Amino acid sequence: MAILEKVLIANRGEIALRILRACKELGIRTVAVHSQVDRELMHVRLADETVCIGPNSPTDSYLNIPAIISAAEVTDSVAIHPGYGFLAENADFAEQVEKSGFRFIGPSADVIRLMGNKVSAISAMIRAGVPTVPGSDGPVTSDDEKTIQTARRIGYPIIIKAAAGGGGRGMQVVHTEAALLKSIQVTKSEARNAFGDDTVYLEKYLECPRHVEVQVLADTHGNVIHLGDRDCSMQRRHQKVIEEAPAPDIDPEARQRTLDACVQACKEIGYVGAGTFEFLYQDGQYYFIEMNTRVQVEHPVSEMVTGVDIVKEQLRIASGLPLTYSQDQITISGHAIECRINAEDPKTFVPSPGKVRHFHAPGGNGVRVDSHLYSGYSVPPYYDSLVGKLITWGDDRESARKRMKNALDELVVEGIKTNQPLHRKLIRDTGFRKVDFTIHYLEKLIKD
Ligand code: ADP
Repeated sequence: MAILEKVLIANRGEIALRILRACKELGIRTVAVHSQVDRELMHVRLADETVCIGPNSPTDSYLNIPAIISAAEVTDSVAIHPGYGFLAENADFAEQVEKSGFRFIGPSADVIRLMGNKVSAISAMIRAGVPTVPGSDGPVTSDDEKTIQTARRIGYPIIIKAAAGGGGRGMQVVHTEAALLKSIQVTKSEARNAFGDDTVYLEKYLECPRHVEVQVLADTHGNVIHLGDRDCSMQRRHQKVIEEAPAPDIDPEARQRTLDACVQACKEIGYVGAGTFEFLYQDGQYYFIEMNTRVQVEHPVSEMVTGVDIVKEQLRIASGLPLTYSQDQITISGHAIECRINAEDPKTFVPSPGKVRHFHAPGGNGVRVDSHLYSGYSVPPYYDSLVGKLITWGDDRESARKRMKNALDELVVEGIKTNQPLHRKLIRDTGFRKVDFTIHYLEKLIKD
């Protein structure tokens, strides 16, 4: 079996550049598709071929399925890499890509559908023996009395979650029975508007968990491995801000059980590709919350501690090749931290697009910068505000943290506002240093 000849990258920004780099290393030709404003993107400059797929609005370009498939046709691409966000977890897209004769770089449409709906994902995990959050065991029905009873059994506070939710949206916490039914209606209507599906379910709202997730890789030959775990507890509005690998201070036995259960779950659902099992971790217990069936923003921290190139493995898997590594060849070495650099006001979090007058990336031993920024580039206002990721590696957590402190001091982004000052504060924070934090930590810190 040979590696794919030509891959169309159906994304933009830092992840498109990341995918392009992996393709180049493997000798794969690349097609960059882009919106009108995005012709100045770094990966568009570096790709073998480029196709403008539409106007700036994401619906007209990066979410425009017919335009992307036509671009694959006219360029004779053999596969499409969706990156993250946009169409990465859209089962209909995966299906249409395959029906049109291209390979979708990710799991099958059926598996995306199964894991993309949080209710069916949770049921699949229960069947595979993965621990989940106590909850409604299925969607909330129109039987209000039953819903009230279910909520009493779970115990307050409760979080109402949209089955089709994503990106930290479609969630609401309720503290009392009096607020339950009204909040369910509100979440349902939000979910209908945002995701076109108003199915919601209930979960126990855990008050002091950390967010811990497991990276897996599975090929078409039945091989499944995990690359250890990551902590992504530093969040604002359910969106990750800092991630690290391995997750610090975890009960070793519970960790091993969970890593094994994730591998087993992949085998049971017929998972293929890179994927992430997300858990809440509290008092030494893991609770599954959802699976992401794609490469994640924070994948570099796992790459730094394992030496595995996750995107290259995705490309190999899609080519029908076996994984490069077996589980016993994976060792976790040292510690890695990632800071997400967003083009936004560090205090108000209002997006700050505009022209980058000057960009200087930090460097040195154990420093990695994944960013599409360059001096003179204009950050458009139409897309996500993530403009780069700063990743550092060290022998242990403290060395990785010190390197990050220096890297953040060296980074220069002039002309737009970024959250660099927030990161400089966080990396020096005692709670962060001592691993004395939960998923609510950052929001409290920002408020104070
Ligand atoms: P999304 O798909 O939008 O990312 P997730 O289900 O992954 O949603 O949840 C995102 C974040 O919301 C979690 O990392 C956590 O901070 C919070 N969260 C989700 N479920 C719960 C819960 N049962 N208890 C407490 N916090 C939760």
